[in-house]
Amino acid sequence: MAEKREKLYEGKAKIVYATDEPDVIVHYFKDSATAFDGKKKGEITGKGSVNAQVSAVLFKLLEEAGIKTHFRSLQGANELVTDRLEMVPLEVIGRNIAAGSLAKRLGYEEGQALKKAIVEFYYKDDVLGDPVVNEDHIAELAVATPDEVSRLREIALKVNEILSRFFDLLGLSLVDFKLEFGRKAGELVLADEISPDTCRLWDKATGERLDKDRFRRDLGRVEDAYQEILARVKGAAV
Ligand code: UDP
Repeated sequence: MAEKREKLYEGKAKIVYATDEPDVIVHYFKDSATAFDGKKKGEITGKGSVNAQVSAVLFKLLEEAGIKTHFRSLQGANELVTDRLEMVPLEVIGRNIAAGSLAKRLGYEEGQALKKAIVEFYYKDDVLGDPVVNEDHIAELAVATPDEVSRLREIALKVNEILSRFFDLLGLSLVDFKLEFGRKAGELVLADEISPDTCRLWDKATGERLDKDRFRRDLGRVEDAYQEILARVKGAAV
């Protein structure tokens, strides 16, 4: 049991607490939801516990496949105990099927399969609105070295292979996903969460969206979609 102490950070979906161990923090997952840079706000009952539990299963799966993650344990239903890292201010996005901003950028219909997986980097900066950046921008900003950028891309592609296979067995297409990383002893470590908030997951049989797009786009049955993902993920994890 890692007791929560000082609040270190409160974001849109999570609160991060220090613990008695300097290298260990607790992430409390909230039910509150935001979209479009915080312009849309709401509450998705049960989202916090779904996202914490789904993240726990996926981090374990990735660890077993040799990917370093910050995950230590699931505490209760809503909390992840993790390593404390020095965070890299980049969002690393992996994509298999065109949706969202990529469909707009390339002029594709949503749902068009990509020839091969695409990796993108976004600079995490609220004032700038998280712009897309390339390797040269990242070097200029000095938020990661060129070697780290290659490594981030390599890890994102490996995560994509593992998670695509896992979700496929659950009858879900992994359309796209967002990863965040930190450093521990100079090494890149997968951090944050992997959940229906940060992945697009479409039912393979019906095409139904079972992710945060139900909230973003007012598609209804938002809670049901989160619970459906948890049920399938837990079914696989047993
Ligand atoms: N994503 C995320 N946080 C963000 C932006 C995107 O978790 O701040 C996830 C999103 O859920 C999707 C993927 O990253 O699975 C790609 O999102 P996209 O760039 O298409 O942005 P959107 O259309 O959601 O604004």
